[in-house]
Amino acid sequence: MKQQKTANKVGIEVLPVMEKFYSIQGEGFHQGKAAYFIRTAGCDVGCSWCDVKESWEVEKEQFIKIDEIIEELRSLPCSFSVITGGEPLIYNMDVLTDRIHDLGVKTHLETSGTYPLSGKWDWICFSPKRFKKPLDIYYEFASELKVVISRPNDLRWAQKHAEQVNENCVLFLQPEWSVSDQILPDIIDFVKENPEWNISLQLHKYLDVR
Ligand code: SF4
Repeated sequence: MKQQKTANKVGIEVLPVMEKFYSIQGEGFHQGKAAYFIRTAGCDVGCSWCDVKESWEVEKEQFIKIDEIIEELRSLPCSFSVITGGEPLIYNMDVLTDRIHDLGVKTHLETSGTYPLSGKWDWICFSPKRFKKPLDIYYEFASELKVVISRPNDLRWAQKHAEQVNENCVLFLQPEWSVSDQILPDIIDFVKENPEWNISLQLHKYLDVR
């Protein structure tokens, strides 16, 4: 019964959060900006190279009040928030994004696009994965397409997604961190031949901030 009550409040009063912190956005279009990160718990996409596998399972003590998130954000000199995961859109994001906007803070979503879109977003980073097919709606609403490249063949796969996104969507290729040294030369050659693409380098890992 208690579990049922918590389930009814998810997305309205509480969310499962693995971690929240103030740092620097290391990836994609907004790389280098100070941002408040909210990493939701739970993901069923199953990327073999996932660097946050500890986000896959949801523990009951991870459910925290949205009020708590908002109060922390209110105390920071921050105008930009990144909601990432895990996969944030497992949960309805309407309340969280409304509450963040009430503070005058912009909302940035990082999603694999595998769950229905909810919430109001100033920026959507759509990062499709081979491990679970995304929903078509994300090609229309993506502000940014970010494809993680772990082997040369992924570049062709990335191009297939680029052919489907809206005309304003910014394109990024990001080397998978554990094979970055090996794959980067292929990415550099590809971007030189296809200059509509940009390279995203996970700046936070070079800066040694989380
Ligand atoms: S979608 Fe993100 S969190 Fe989920 S398995 Fe893939 S890399 Fe990890």
